[in-house]
Amino acid sequence: MLLSSVIASIMFKHRVVPLQWPLNRSWQHLFNGLGLRSWSRFWLALVLSFGVALGAAIALPAPELVDIQAIAPTIQLDLRYATTNNFTGQKLYAQARCLLRPQVATRLALVQADLEAKQLGLKVFDCYRPLSVQKRMWELVPDANYVADPKSGSRHNRGSAVDLTLVDRQGHALPMPSEFDEFSPRSHLDYQGGTPTTRQNRDLLQTAMLKRGFTSIPTEWWHFDAPNWQSYPLLDIPLSAGNAWH
Ligand SMILES: [Zn+2]
Repeated sequence: MLLSSVIASIMFKHRVVPLQWPLNRSWQHLFNGLGLRSWSRFWLALVLSFGVALGAAIALPAPELVDIQAIAPTIQLDLRYATTNNFTGQKLYAQARCLLRPQVATRLALVQADLEAKQLGLKVFDCYRPLSVQKRMWELVPDANYVADPKSGSRHNRGSAVDLTLVDRQGHALPMPSEFDEFSPRSHLDYQGGTPTTRQNRDLLQTAMLKRGFTSIPTEWWHFDAPNWQSYPLLDIPLSAGNAWH
């Protein structure tokens, strides 16, 4: 804002632009009618430029994505796609950041607070995923059973989905019926095999997330969607995006 005003000042002072600029004829008539002299016009233009710049600054939209560490710093990160420890065997994310829509991050913070009251917590495996990474995944594994076709996109591309598990007070992951991203019946919500403890942990995670409005899918115990996830458009903002709160 200050810069724009300084530039405007220099341009007017050195007559880089005529004094009537940027006023069109009707504005010139108005100014002439007001009996404003050249330097009065200059000062008025300067004040107007300040006003416009200030208005633009106030009207800046909220960031589309926020870093969960800024909202709920006790949530643990294990962002698998930022490592080779994932089903593609390739590092797909340039940065290990959990970005989410602000409303989704706030909701997840409530789940974390609920769990901390029970000496538990969350550990996230995946959050927002840029659409370009979805395309790369599809190139590596072009199978709709495992990867969402980038033509329609993944819910993770909308910043409205999260993959996670439970941890205890020491940060150790609680045993679950399957591994993360294990595409087998053991990952299904209705899987009745394994030990009672793993099934209880799975159900505890479901209860905690659904209590705060998230919804689950029947084939992946780790995946949850925020309410109205369809209303968030697909994004291809890089994980290093400057507009994400740090
Ligand atoms: Zn997921």
